[in-house]
Amino acid sequence: MNFSVTILGSGAALPTSSRKPTAQYIECRGRRILIDCGEGTQMQFRKFGIKFQRIDHILISHLHGDHYFGLVGLLSTMHLLGRKRSIDIYAPKELRNIVEAQLNYGGSRLAFELHFHEINSDQSGTLYKDDKMSIEHFPLSHKVPTSGFLIKERTKERKIIGDLVQADKIKIQHFKSLKQGEDVIDEDGRLIEFKKYTRSAGSAKSYAYCSDTRYYEKVIPFIKNVDLLYHEATFTEEFIDRAKATMHSTAKQAAKIASLAEVKLLLMGHLSARYESGDKHLLEAQVVFANCEVVDDGNIYTLSK
Ligand SMILES: [Zn+2]
Repeated sequence: MNFSVTILGSGAALPTSSRKPTAQYIECRGRRILIDCGEGTQMQFRKFGIKFQRIDHILISHLHGDHYFGLVGLLSTMHLLGRKRSIDIYAPKELRNIVEAQLNYGGSRLAFELHFHEINSDQSGTLYKDDKMSIEHFPLSHKVPTSGFLIKERTKERKIIGDLVQADKIKIQHFKSLKQGEDVIDEDGRLIEFKKYTRSAGSAKSYAYCSDTRYYEKVIPFIKNVDLLYHEATFTEEFIDRAKATMHSTAKQAAKIASLAEVKLLLMGHLSARYESGDKHLLEAQVVFANCEVVDDGNIYTLSK
């Protein structure tokens, strides 16, 4: 099962024709997650051909409007299209009142349940975990309480090599241990080595999301060595004062965090509307951390297939 990140919105507070406000769609081993939901996110789902009724979890990083103004619209459309299955929403606790007020004043009643889970943005913790993946949160440093997210695959079971187990008549009851990387002694005292009869299913991958935040080295332990890091880069160094005043990061700062955290690939987004392209961000970041990209709406990054 796959693990991929689709950028639905790569812009900052002011939407432009090419960059919509923040939203990302993640598929991770059968789970479907929306991170942030800026205005117009439901239209981005349509534009990029993604079925939003299948979303299981919605994570909202903080309560600046460019990260959640699209939420009630999306939930209303899910209702109109016949959704009955409940949805889990993880957000600062005030979001519940906001969403309920927006629905209640119009007398709207959704045909599915919203399960709100409060995120304490001062702390780190696990939001969701099953046998295939987990979602964790950790604090960022911004003008209002803000969380970053870490989505990780859990260690994958090894794969049985069919021809070999058949040839050596390995019994099926031993497969579970072998897949978990354990050797087995069978009924006849024969040693069955997992390395001989299984192969690796690939390493477990990880994705970290940091938006919005000032330069904040305290995130490093949470994002250390991830395969893919999305870090906001609202500004370039030319506007460092503006970055400081608004508690956002520059491209150079995002690259420095990526370098200190030794991530494999850095994605930069949340670009201020003042930039026509991400060229300056890229030039600035590459000096510090070579393996980086500026994202565009619609980009898909595949961590595993
Ligand atoms: Zn913000």
